[in-house]
Amino acid sequence: EGDEAATKIHELDAATIDRIAAGEVVERPASVVKELVENALDADASRIEVEVAGDGTEELVVRDDGVGMTRADAEAAVERHTTSKIRDADDLAHVGTLGFRGEALHTIAAVSRLTVTTKPREGGRGTEVRVAGGEIESVGPAGRAAGTTIAVRDLFYNTPARREFLNAENTEFGHVNRAVSRYALANPDVAVSLTHDDTETFATPGDGDVRSALLAVYGRDVAESMIAVDADSAGALDCVRGYVSHPETTRSTRDYLATYVNGRYVSDRLLREAIVEAYGTQLAADRFPFAVLDVELPPSEVDANVHPRKMEVRFEDEPGVREAATDAVRDALREHGLVRTSAPRG
Ligand code: ADP
Ligand code: MG
Repeated sequence: EGDEAATKIHELDAATIDRIAAGEVVERPASVVKELVENALDADASRIEVEVAGDGTEELVVRDDGVGMTRADAEAAVERHTTSKIRDADDLAHVGTLGFRGEALHTIAAVSRLTVTTKPREGGRGTEVRVAGGEIESVGPAGRAAGTTIAVRDLFYNTPARREFLNAENTEFGHVNRAVSRYALANPDVAVSLTHDDTETFATPGDGDVRSALLAVYGRDVAESMIAVDADSAGALDCVRGYVSHPETTRSTRDYLATYVNGRYVSDRLLREAIVEAYGTQLAADRFPFAVLDVELPPSEVDANVHPRKMEVRFEDEPGVREAATDAVRDALREHGLVRTSAPRG
């Protein structure tokens, strides 16, 4: 009897643990795209192509012309907690790259059929590694130009609960589109393209000009309505730079307020509110502007590790940051005669 009771609690096998953990990190196809595009940017790519089939669970491909990987690195990259970006916890404090937890590829591979095709920039042969449900199935040579392609197929095939949770195809693709757009706008020197079911959604030229990227991503009307924000030593912030739209170029959601801290995209409510605040009564009720806004401040004054998906931050001086961002945007709008000169402060 006693023995039987003891068997109620048992250890989970490693594959099950991986799959549970993966379900928490990989929420939807857009989360996969985010990690893969960040890896491509970290790999010094000048061109990144994203291709999505259906809602993204069928097939999702990210191709880059970055530094690529050797055969040994490609095999290691899909293993657990492998990274070329940090060696220990001390390195976390001064990491300059986007990804640093060393578990994105492994995690995605645990819940899909993933293929890595890669060739190092400095020469050597190309490699293809095939993984299914976290297990390496084959490793072999592959002919290709320098760079890396990650193809993710049958996402969540072994986690049906996670699949159930997904929304309709256009909702999921909307998330993918916004994620890729944010990276394209923040990296105008990289040519970023997004294709859905063989139709090109957008392609930025990678000429280094944010305005060209805005034109490609949002079209002419929005791009032409954008007003430059460029404030140095703005109170609590070292600088505030980017573009915000004319108060009449708006949408009914906050989705087009893209905010960045020290060049990294963050989903930051405080910054979004600071931008909207700057428009005062010029914005119609429940309308939100477009923005691509980067705030720069010393890394010691911002905690970038509050959220495991690294999309949220916490500022030491929240009121100061809010005021500095609002002031910078308001000054830009005022220069174009778009807010009242004597707008009340505070
Ligand atoms: P992290 O980005 O946190 O290091 P990942 O699991 O995302 O962890 O990637 C593991 C490693 O695989 C990276 O550190 C990098 O060395 C390599 N890697 C992943 N994607 C690419 C890519 N597109 N180009 C070159 N190397 C890559
Ligand atoms: Mg990564």
